[in-house]
Amino acid sequence: MPVRPPRLVVIGGGPGGNQAATTAARLGADVTIVERDVIGGAAHLWDCIPSKAMIATGNAMSFMHRSPGMGLGELDAAVDVDALKRRIADILEHLKRSVVDLLTSQGVHIVRGTGRLLDAHTVGVDTGAGAGDGAGNGELRLEADLVVLSTGTRPRIPPWAKPDGDRILTTRQAYPPPMIPSHLVVVGSGVTGVEFVHMFRSFGAQVTLIVSRQQVLPDRDPEVAAALEEDFLRRGVNLLKGARAEAIEREGEGVAVKCDDGRVARGSHALLAIGSVPNSDGLGLEAAGVEVDDRGFISINNHCQSSVPHIYAAGDLSGKLPLSSVAAMQGRKIAEHAMGLHTRQHRHLDYDKAAQAIFTEPEIAEVGVHEAEAFASGRKIRVTKVPFAANAKALINDDPRGFVKIVSDPYTGVVLGGAIVGRHAAELISVVALAVTAGLRLTDLLDSLLVHPSLAESLADAAD
Ligand SMILES: Cc1cc2nc3c(=O)[nH]c(=O)nc-3n(C[C@H](O)[C@H](O)[C@H](O)COP(=O)(O)OP(=O)(O)OC[C@H]3O[C@@H](n4cnc5c(N)ncnc54)[C@H](O)[C@@H]3O)c2cc1C
Repeated sequence: MPVRPPRLVVIGGGPGGNQAATTAARLGADVTIVERDVIGGAAHLWDCIPSKAMIATGNAMSFMHRSPGMGLGELDAAVDVDALKRRIADILEHLKRSVVDLLTSQGVHIVRGTGRLLDAHTVGVDTGAGAGDGAGNGELRLEADLVVLSTGTRPRIPPWAKPDGDRILTTRQAYPPPMIPSHLVVVGSGVTGVEFVHMFRSFGAQVTLIVSRQQVLPDRDPEVAAALEEDFLRRGVNLLKGARAEAIEREGEGVAVKCDDGRVARGSHALLAIGSVPNSDGLGLEAAGVEVDDRGFISINNHCQSSVPHIYAAGDLSGKLPLSSVAAMQGRKIAEHAMGLHTRQHRHLDYDKAAQAIFTEPEIAEVGVHEAEAFASGRKIRVTKVPFAANAKALINDDPRGFVKIVSDPYTGVVLGGAIVGRHAAELISVVALAVTAGLRLTDLLDSLLVHPSLAESLADAAD
C-alpha cells in the first residue's frame, strides 16, 4: 500500500510559518498554511519591513545633510509623506507576492482564514461567513499529522495608554504616521524605541525618549549603548532617564506623557514601543493540551516541539528571540525535525549565536558573547577593539564613527562574539556570525585577503 505523505498544517504565514511550510513541502510533506491576514507575516510586513524602509529614507536625508563633508554643496530635502507611503506599499506588495509565489511553487496549499486547534490533530479554520465547507458556517476542518503554530505577537498596550492612531500611536500606526510629528515622545528605549527615535529625528522631528533605566538598550553592551546615546545627544534628542511612563493624555493638539517621578514629557505625538504580547489566545491550545508559560508564549524544547510532540511553535509565539531571522530558522529546523532529517544532519538552533542589528545611526550589530556579560560571569575572554577612525574607507565615506570589537577565547583564539558600531554594521557582523557559528579562529580572519579599501578591513585589524 502506498504510504501517504504526512499532512502538516501551519497556522500563521509569517517568516516562521512560511519557512516551515516551504521546507517541509520540499522534503515531501503535504502542507497547508492558514493565514488570516497577510501572507508574509504581520510583524514582518507591518513592523520589520516598513520600519527599515522609513529608516532608509531617513538615512538618505542624513547623508544629504552631511553633503559638505563629501565635497558637495549644501543639499536638503523634506519628507514627502505620500511618496513615502507609496514606496512602503510597493516594497510590501513585492515581498508579499514573492512569498506567495514561493509557497505555491512548492505546492503548499494556502487557506485564508483564522485557524485554531479543535483537538491535537484537527485545525478548524474560520474562513468568514458564507465561505468554508459549503455548510454555510465558514468553518473548514483540516486533519493534521503535524502542526506548526506561528501566529506571532501584537504590540503591548498598557492599561494607562489608549492609542488613537492620531496622536497616541502604537508601532503599527506609525508607518508612516498621519503626519510627521513636530515633537514625538517615544516610550520605551529597547531596540524598537531607539530605531523610532533615529527615524523621526532624521525626518526633522524633535524627539524625547523616555528611558526607564539609566541606559538606553538596557540589555546590550554598555559601550555600544553609550555610543548610541552620545549620537542621540549630539543630534539633540532629549533623554529622560530613570523615568517610567504611567499615563498618556491628550492635551489640545498634543500629548502629555506623565512619569512616575512627577516629570511630564509634552509633545505633538506619543509612540508606545514597550514590547509585544503573544497571539496565543483563541488558538485552541487547551483543547489540544499545548502548554504556555506565564506570559502566554508557547513553551518549546530544542526541536521547537510544544508539550504535545507533534505540535511545534515557531517565531515570536515561542517566546525566544523575537527576530524574523530566528523565526525563519526555527521554521526550517521544525520542518527538518518533523520530516526526520534531524537524525542525519540536524544542528540545534543556538539562540546565543544569532546576529542582531539595530538600524540606528550609527548602525549597531552584535553576535555571540558580550564583553560585559563575560566579565560579570567571570569567564576569561580576550577583547580586541579598533575604531573606524583608523579605516581608510570610513574616512573616504566621511563617516569614521564607531568601532569593531571582537571577543575571543584567550587560549584557543576561537571567535566567541563581536560588536560593531558604525556604517554597514548589520552587513559586517555576518562575517563575525559565520566565525562564531563555524568555530573559526582570529587567525582565520587575519589570514583572509580582504578588499582594500573596505570597512571589513577593520575586522581583520581587530583580529590582530
Ligand atoms: C517595529 C519592529 C521592527 C522589527 N524589525 C525587525 C528587524 O529589523 N529584523 C528582524 O529580524 N526582526 C524584526 N522585528 C521582529 C520581527 O518582525 C518578528 O520577529 C517576526 O515577524 C516574527 O515572525 P513570526 O512568523 O513569528 O510572526 P509574524 O510575522 O507576526 O506572523 C504571524 C502571522 O500569523 C497570522 N495569524 C495570527 N493568528 C492567526 C490565526 N489564528 N489564524 C491564522 N493566521 C494567524 C498573522 O496574521 C501573521 O501574519 C521587528 C519587530 C517590530 C515590532
